[in-house]
Amino acid sequence: METPADPLARLREAIDRLDREFIRLLADRLRAVREIGDHKSRNKDAVLRDDDRERALFEMWAREAESQGVSAYFAGRVLREILNWSRRDQERFLEPDAAGGAGARSARVGYQGVPACYSDLTIGKVFATRDVARLERVGFRSFAAAIDALEAGAIDYALLPIENTIAGSINEVYDLIGHRPVTIVGEEVWPVEHCLLGLPGARFEHLRAVRSHPVALQQCGKFLDALVGVVSESFHDTAGAAQAVAREGDPGIAAIASEEAAREYGLVVLKRDISDQATNLTRFLLIGRQPEPFDARRPAKTSLVFSVNHRRGALLECLKSFDAQGINLTKLESRPRANAPWEYQFYVDLEGHIADARVQAALEEVRAHTNHLKVLGSYPRRIESERERRIPEAAPVEAPAAATATPATAAAAPPAAPRNPNLKLCGLKEDGRRSRIDVSGVEFGGERFVLAIGPCAVESLRQMMESADLAKRHGAAMMRGGAFKPRTSPYAFQGLGFPGLDMLVEAGRAYELPVVTEVLHPEDVERVAAGADMLQIGARNMQNFALLKEVGRARRPVLLKRGMSATIEELLLAAEYIMSGGNHRVVLCERGIRTFETATRNTLDVSAVPVLKGRTHLPVIVDPSHAAGLRELVIPLALAAAAAGADGLLIEAHPNPAEALCDKDQALTGDDLAKLTASLRPILAAQGRSL
Ligand code: PEP
Ligand code: MN
Repeated sequence: METPADPLARLREAIDRLDREFIRLLADRLRAVREIGDHKSRNKDAVLRDDDRERALFEMWAREAESQGVSAYFAGRVLREILNWSRRDQERFLEPDAAGGAGARSARVGYQGVPACYSDLTIGKVFATRDVARLERVGFRSFAAAIDALEAGAIDYALLPIENTIAGSINEVYDLIGHRPVTIVGEEVWPVEHCLLGLPGARFEHLRAVRSHPVALQQCGKFLDALVGVVSESFHDTAGAAQAVAREGDPGIAAIASEEAAREYGLVVLKRDISDQATNLTRFLLIGRQPEPFDARRPAKTSLVFSVNHRRGALLECLKSFDAQGINLTKLESRPRANAPWEYQFYVDLEGHIADARVQAALEEVRAHTNHLKVLGSYPRRIESERERRIPEAAPVEAPAAATATPATAAAAPPAAPRNPNLKLCGLKEDGRRSRIDVSGVEFGGERFVLAIGPCAVESLRQMMESADLAKRHGAAMMRGGAFKPRTSPYAFQGLGFPGLDMLVEAGRAYELPVVTEVLHPEDVERVAAGADMLQIGARNMQNFALLKEVGRARRPVLLKRGMSATIEELLLAAEYIMSGGNHRVVLCERGIRTFETATRNTLDVSAVPVLKGRTHLPVIVDPSHAAGLRELVIPLALAAAAAGADGLLIEAHPNPAEALCDKDQALTGDDLAKLTASLRPILAAQGRSL
């Protein structure tokens, strides 16, 4: 008997149809991209990456998306993926024997592990855009065994991991490349997404053991700690652990590995995303026997190892040689030398090809200061530079006046101030150099003006998602939101606490915005620091010394707000408390002080900005929202802060201010934010800065 179609099934059918259409369009787009690639390979003068064209594309996508009611931010993310893939795909035309060329080559690639381990998956990524007709993958028990096979000619390449963003460098691989007659010919990055895998039908509550590579177990430490009574067992690799679970058929044992490993070995994913840290990237090196030529238009990277003469300043001289040639180093690491106690060698990655005149000139000089130097290889750079990552967000250049204007730092020349001997750490440095504070990739105190936007309080996940969308659309580099609210009245909304923190973190992750949130109690610092990217000390707690000491021990940067009745000197001494505890990543925030004036919630002390700049090297931002207390006043105060030389703004905004549970009168709307950024741009441009 025919049953009426289930409405859910019908809807899913419609989705499937749309997805197929989507894929067909992607394929059409890729074909057009290939024609462009073919054109570029024949026209050696064509630029490979056209920044203006990319920017225009992002703008077009944003406009189209918004007009269709789709989040411009998410549309931008999709475009970013498509462009990444298109660029890679075009590379096949740039191989020396490409342009519809041979295509008959086969490649045997060795890796350490078993099928579906992260190295194996990355091989797929590396060779997806190389013109090889037949790809053969060979798993080895150890890194050394793979290199042995490469040297012996049994394989053409080895793909080995060199570093992980959580665990650090893989020294054994460095040592192998440094000592064997092999060369680096490529790099690749794989985003590691650990999953808990079990047998079909396995139940969480029946688990007795979890197996994986020790590094993977460590990276999922928090998740494993919560599994009471379950033991962790070290295994030589992640996919190998999955393979063993499948072979033994015991539902009480699970493995930590990739989702692909689950598919490979017939396991199911019991839980996704179990890493302690959201960003977990592994960088791999493709190692060959001979250097491989590649199109000179592709950005190149070169890796070296050297040890310096035992002489004062030798390392500094080496670094200066690179700097003198304008060469950017992307990595510098030191390692003890084998069998030479207390001697070190340095591993350097730099931007440029060994054949570049500037690289040659720098190496010529470096050789004079080293007693051993080996070039490990030049290869196409896969990790985007800071500038390349920023292209899509870059704002259109306005204000022709900008060309002749002086930079902000010069405009806000610090007035001479008497030196306070107690400001040992936060006081201005002898050479006048200012600190740049990194907060999960956002820099305070650099050329870019930082906007941290978000609601006063976290109210719900939905409100936070909408707030993140609002913030992202209006140029925010960070998001704010209070989970713990210090309220003047005990009867006012006190915040959602830790569940609120989770919502803030989730929304921040979804929109790739680092988050800042206030911490009220010393005993909460560690737990708040586990989720938030930056810890805020509120005005009411500026002199809560127990709290200052605790954040001084934390591994997160701190946003320190000026107390409403605190002098500038007291603010700096509070910063000194934090820094003397070991945490030097402090950003100061002027947020208005108590005066006799009642027309505003507080009086914004604009003069605090240049005064602070004359006394401390720390970045200074301004919170016009709490100074004003009224929406209409926020924009003019924000502009004054930027003109006075502030490094950024902390702004309260709400998707629906009328319904805000806290500080609704000062919350900006999307329209207000658009006005704010439009007025800020020319001010910043005149100072040689940007959003
Ligand atoms: C806030 O920024 O959430 C806040 C409470 O501000 P302040 O500590 O400056 O009053
Ligand atoms: Mn507030």
